[in-house]
Amino acid sequence: MATVLASRNCNHATCQGECRRAKKEMPVRTPIRRASKKRAKQERQYTGLRKRFLQANPDCQANVCGCSGKAEHIHHMAGRIGDDLTDVDNFLAVCPECHHWIETHPVEAKALCLSISRLQVTKKDRTTYAPEEAVV
Ligand SMILES: [Zn+2]
Ligand SMILES: [Zn+2]
Repeated sequence: MATVLASRNCNHATCQGECRRAKKEMPVRTPIRRASKKRAKQERQYTGLRKRFLQANPDCQANVCGCSGKAEHIHHMAGRIGDDLTDVDNFLAVCPECHHWIETHPVEAKALCLSISRLQVTKKDRTTYAPEEAVV
């Protein structure tokens, strides 16, 4: 579970290192991740999925304060551990501003269902936590 602890560097319980701050503080990828061939394959798969997801969802899906409207990042609502990295149900297309907000407001982001604790919510339950419902 080393990746879980490493992700806390960005102060964002559910973001597994994609956040700006995490990148800044962890410029070097963890050797643990690199060592896994399965993970490397997943990350290649993710690169393609990410591109397609942003093409299909060009508008920011978070729409929180300071939103620029243009989705450029993928926020993983329940983190990027294991298969969650490539699970599109876990993707949220966000603009850099909203991603920064989500990252710096973990409690509020959870309240808006922009982030989900994978420790509390099972994969099956996640569908009931759709972001759309929170915005209504
Ligand atoms: Zn936005
Ligand atoms: Zn994030």
